[in-house]
Amino acid sequence: RTSIAVFTRDLRVNDNPVLTAAAAAEFTIPMFVQDTVIADSSFSNRHRQHFLNAGLADLDASLQQLGAALVIRSGDPVEEVARMAERFDVESVHIAADASGYARARERRLHRVLACQRRRLVVHEAVITVHPLGEITPSGSDHFSVFSPYYRRWRDQRRRPLVPVPDRIDLPEGLSQGRVPAGAAAHDWQGGETVARHRANEWFADGLADYLDHHDDLAADGTSRLSPYLHFGNLSPVELASKADQRPSRGSEAYVRQLAWRDFHHQVLAARPAAAWQDYRYRDDQWSDPGRLLDAWRAGQTGFPLVDAGMRELIETGWMHNRSRLVTGSFLTKTLYLDWRHGARHFLDHLVDGDLANNNLNWQWVAGTGTDTRPNRVLNPLRQAERYDPDARYVRRWVPELADLQDPRDVHEPWRLPEIERKALGYPEPIADLAAGRAHFLATRGGGQ
Ligand code: FAD
Repeated sequence: RTSIAVFTRDLRVNDNPVLTAAAAAEFTIPMFVQDTVIADSSFSNRHRQHFLNAGLADLDASLQQLGAALVIRSGDPVEEVARMAERFDVESVHIAADASGYARARERRLHRVLACQRRRLVVHEAVITVHPLGEITPSGSDHFSVFSPYYRRWRDQRRRPLVPVPDRIDLPEGLSQGRVPAGAAAHDWQGGETVARHRANEWFADGLADYLDHHDDLAADGTSRLSPYLHFGNLSPVELASKADQRPSRGSEAYVRQLAWRDFHHQVLAARPAAAWQDYRYRDDQWSDPGRLLDAWRAGQTGFPLVDAGMRELIETGWMHNRSRLVTGSFLTKTLYLDWRHGARHFLDHLVDGDLANNNLNWQWVAGTGTDTRPNRVLNPLRQAERYDPDARYVRRWVPELADLQDPRDVHEPWRLPEIERKALGYPEPIADLAAGRAHFLATRGGGQ
C-alpha cells in the first residue's frame, strides 16, 4: 500500500502529522509541487522564493536520512498529485488544512479528483496552526472577531500531542525525484528546518524569558524572528507553544500569546476568505489618491525618520520589526489616509515572512477596517520613537543620513535643526502634517473611537 504526503506550508519532518500519518503506509511518496500559479504571481518574491528553496533542500536532506527523498514536481498541485496517485495506485493522500481561499479551493478540488479515482484524501488539522481552524468558535458564529475572548478559549483548549518523526520511509520503485532546488540564503535569512530548530533552541535559551521586556524595543533583537520559519512550516507552532510552556515565565506567556494572535488571524481568514482583500468591517473610507505619497512611503522617503527606518529595513532585509509594521501601517492608512491594500501588497512584495492571514488581517487591524476594537486609534511616530527608540539606535541604523546626529531628538525630528544644517543632511522634508492627517482621518470616520 502506498500513500502520498503532500507538503505545503509544513516543510519539516519534526512534529508533522501529515508526514507521520502518510509514513504508516508500506510505501510513501513525500511530495512537494511548486505551484506555478503562485510562483508566477505577485505572491512570490525573491526573499520568500530563496527561503522556500532552502527549506526544500533541507527537507530533502532530512528525508534522505530517513531512507527516502523529497519528490518535486512543478505545475498545478491537484493535477500533479492526482497523476502521481494514479501512477502508483496510491491508497491515501495526506495534506495539511490551511486557511486561505486559494488553499481551501485546492483542497476541495483535490478531494473531488481523488474521489473520482476512489482514493482517500486525509486533511490534517493543527499542522499550520496550534489549534484546528474553525474549532474555537463563540456560540452563534463560525469565528471569533475579538481577540481577548478567543485567546481565553485558545489557552484552555487542549493541544494535540506532538507526533514522532517516522523511523524510516520507503519510496516505491521507479519514482523520479525531480529537481531539488539548491539551498540558498536570502540576505541574513537562512531557510530550512535545521537552521530553524537551531535558532528556536537559541531563542528558548537566551531570548524567551526577557521577551516581555524587550519585544517592543526597536533596536534590540528582542523577538524570536522565527516568523518566516512558521510561515513555511519549518517549525511546528504546536511544538513551539509546548516548548515555551515548559519554561514558564512572563516572557513565555507573552510569546505564546503571540502564537495565539497568529491562530486568531488564520481562523478569521478561514471563516472569511474574502477578508484577505476586502474590508472585514466596511467603514465607507474614501481613501486619498496614492500618487507620490505612496511612492515616498514605499521608498522610505517620507521625512519621518521612524517611518522611513522601517520601510528601508523592509526593502533591505525582507523583514520589519512588529512595532515598525504598526507605525508604518498607521502612518500610511491614518496619516496619509491611503488604502491599506497598497500597504499590504507592498509588504507581501518584500517580506520574507509574508503571509496572507497575518499580513492582510494585521493591515486591516491597523487600518481600523479589521478586528481592532479601537479602530480609530492613530499612532504618532514621534511618540512611538520616544517610547520604543529613545536613543535613536534603530533610526540611525536604517537612515544613514541621520546617523551622525548626536541628539536623539534631532534624529527623530530633523526639522528642529537650523535650515542650513538640515539641508546638508540630504534627508527629505516631511511629506505630511501629523496633526492635520489625524484630524482629517478622524473627521472622515465621524471622529469616534
Ligand atoms: P515574535 O514577537 O517572536 O512573535 C512570535 C510569533 O507570533 C511570530 O513569529 C509570529 O508568527 C506570531 N506573531 C507575532 N505577532 C503577531 C501578530 N501581530 N499577528 C499574527 N502573528 C503574530 N506576521 C507574519 O508572520 N507575516 C506577515 O506577513 C505579517 N505582516 C504584518 C503586517 C502588519 C501591518 C503588522 C502590524 C504585522 C504583521 N505581522 C506579520 C505580524 C508580526 O509583525 C510578525 O509576525 C512579527 O513581527 C514576526 O517577528 P517575530 O517572529 O520575531 O515575532
